Amino acid sequence: MFKNIIDYTRNLWGFKKKPDIKKPRVITRDEHGIDRRQVSREALRTCENLQAAGFEAYVVGGAVRDLLLGVTPKDFDVVTNATPEQIKRCQRRAIIIGRRFRLVHVMFGREIIECSTFRALSHEGVQKDRAGRVVDDNVFGEMWEDAARRDFTINALYYDPSTQEVIDYHNGMQDIENRVVRMIGDPYDRYREDPVRMLRAVRIASKLHFDVDEATLAPIAKQAHLLGNVPEARLFDEAMKLLTCGEACLCMEKLRQLHLDRNVLPLLDVALKEPNGEKFLNHAMKRTDERIGMGKKVSPSFLFATLLWPLTHRQFEERLARGEGQMMAMIEAARSVLKKQGERLAIQNRYVEDIQTIWLLQLKLLRRSSKAALGLLNIPKFRAGYDFMLLRSQLGFVDAEIVDWWTKFQEVGEEARLEMIRLEAEKNQQARKSRRGEPKKPSKAQIKKQLMKEADSWQEVRDIENFVDHEFDEDVPFALIETKPADKPKRRRRSSWKGRRRVARQAQEGSNQ
Ligand code: ATP
Ligand code: MG
Repeated sequence: MFKNIIDYTRNLWGFKKKPDIKKPRVITRDEHGIDRRQVSREALRTCENLQAAGFEAYVVGGAVRDLLLGVTPKDFDVVTNATPEQIKRCQRRAIIIGRRFRLVHVMFGREIIECSTFRALSHEGVQKDRAGRVVDDNVFGEMWEDAARRDFTINALYYDPSTQEVIDYHNGMQDIENRVVRMIGDPYDRYREDPVRMLRAVRIASKLHFDVDEATLAPIAKQAHLLGNVPEARLFDEAMKLLTCGEACLCMEKLRQLHLDRNVLPLLDVALKEPNGEKFLNHAMKRTDERIGMGKKVSPSFLFATLLWPLTHRQFEERLARGEGQMMAMIEAARSVLKKQGERLAIQNRYVEDIQTIWLLQLKLLRRSSKAALGLLNIPKFRAGYDFMLLRSQLGFVDAEIVDWWTKFQEVGEEARLEMIRLEAEKNQQARKSRRGEPKKPSKAQIKKQLMKEADSWQEVRDIENFVDHEFDEDVPFALIETKPADKPKRRRRSSWKGRRRVARQAQEGSNQ
């Protein structure tokens, strides 16, 4: 009676009754409409095995949320009251993983179902670092506690495959209907426990076209700095999820509004720091969103190849200017970028080789006049290399004629391919013939090498580098630097390059006018 009066007064004053976090709402099959056949067979089997052994087991999290919205879930997670060891005993193939958060990977061929134990709400036993971030979280509890530990109300829905009921502790169903992402508990504290939740809020809202609840959004501006304390490997995972959620462009726009687009996700920063990086990143995101929209797969190696390309290309050019050969310069630039960034960003080894192949193909695809072009079609990553060249051409970095040639080359039969190669060889020969009469124009790298031979001090070396890299215009005829005849004895002529540089500059100025 007394409770009813309190509820009545609350309603009268417009206060909402707080849900009892221990008493869930049970939503029947007819109310929620999830078809059991939409749930992955592997997730159903995992639950069945656990339930047959006398444990509780539910499909939980993003999968239930997505099924309610008619979206195909990316992955299925199962939660149970069995401990990791007990889960392992109930499944045919399973391994226990994780330290901060121990859980079980149940394996069905290539399909993996992540199976965790209800986490306790009690803060005893949960280890935090000085900033309040949870670093060890292996205290098991009850289902209502597990629900309160999840991030957003729409992610705390449990589906029981045997009864086909959805169990809702935090009005998640209502938030799904209202299309809103709302943090469970006090957002300020929840972000401190795990700052990655800020990025998750943005990503999940963008992916589903939901709004972020005001109270959930408000602390982000003040707490963004906490992301600096998150291990890079975790940020890398989050960046990958963001890029492949199907709404990467929208995510990026929201991150920009919240000033989380730079200096937060190292994977994106690598691209954004380079002069053409933003162009590449935006184009890669647009293309990835389109592919996901069409139900196509996105290859992580292609994404890495795109994001790291501006940096690799800069190093490639620097090496060329130092006089290295094209292939060697590309191999070395790729090796150096992948070693440094690969370790930092925790790029898995299996992707590294593919990325290198995609980059090397950018050179190999330029050579179309020999039968080697036929062999390129059989390289496993040929299609990715071709797609990448197409992307570069759409951004204006590669001649469209080259990409069109390869498009046609893939479509036509063997005979026509040989004819295309022959025509290309003929074209090259004619071009060589017409150049035969002209004096050979030394390349920038040759000029630099030549001048370097005559430098007598580090200062001169630096001056030469400066001159060739920044002042020298390759398109201007530069007959001044002729390669030394091999039989002529080497003679060190101090400062002779200075004179040449002066004359070169005058020659350039003259021809620019
Ligand atoms: P996606 O569609 O990207 O898979 P998701 O919500 O399923 O989205 P997962 O990373 O698969 O995301 O996580 C599964 C579930 O685990 C979430 O729905 C949520 O309930 C819980 N969860 C994940 N990350 C956190 C976190 N940082 N804090 C609290 N709960 C989390
Ligand atoms: Mg998920």
